[in-house]
Amino acid sequence: MKITIVYDNEANPGLKSGWGFSCLIEGKEKLLFDTGGSGENLIYNLRQLNIQPESVAAVVISHNHWDHTGGLKGFSKLNNNAKVFHPKSFSKPTEISPGVHSTGALGGLIREQSLVVNTEKGNLVITGCAHPGLENIIERSRELGEIYGVVGGFHGFAKLDKLNGLEMIAPCHCTQYKQEIRERYPGEFKDIKAGSIIEI
Ligand SMILES: [Zn+2]
Ligand SMILES: [Zn+2]
Repeated sequence: MKITIVYDNEANPGLKSGWGFSCLIEGKEKLLFDTGGSGENLIYNLRQLNIQPESVAAVVISHNHWDHTGGLKGFSKLNNNAKVFHPKSFSKPTEISPGVHSTGALGGLIREQSLVVNTEKGNLVITGCAHPGLENIIERSRELGEIYGVVGGFHGFAKLDKLNGLEMIAPCHCTQYKQEIRERYPGEFKDIKAGSIIEI
């Protein structure tokens, strides 16, 4: 299973950074999780990373904030065959592609879904902004099996104890306590930004 960060507040050289998040998940098929804040930047980064927008089978939107939906319009101009899954698509965990589940929408005011991706080492949880609380997303994800790691925006998540036992912790985008997480879990912490690839 290969995850490529294609949009983030920070970027590797040669890629555009911008407030927002998007990643490509390559298993049996290619899924785009979120689309960042700008279609222009998203398409630019996809091209730079040699990812053909036409090859994406489905787009999963974590929640309806511009920094996750902003690139959808631009992306759809290049690929209008991809299925689009909005947070309201699922109210409980559902498999949306072989080995990839949605947690179903969680949270009150801001409904948000995260992904749980099967890998050889255990499940990888991928979050957009984690508005429902990363601890709640982790709890829901555990219903689908052992969690290997967590990737994505952690927002104001501060109950760091809840990360105990994870083998990979890769916070990005809106994560407020990135530095604290890095100091607390130096062995598990993975520094990621647009252009980073996670292969498990
Ligand atoms: Zn948000
Ligand atoms: Zn966000």
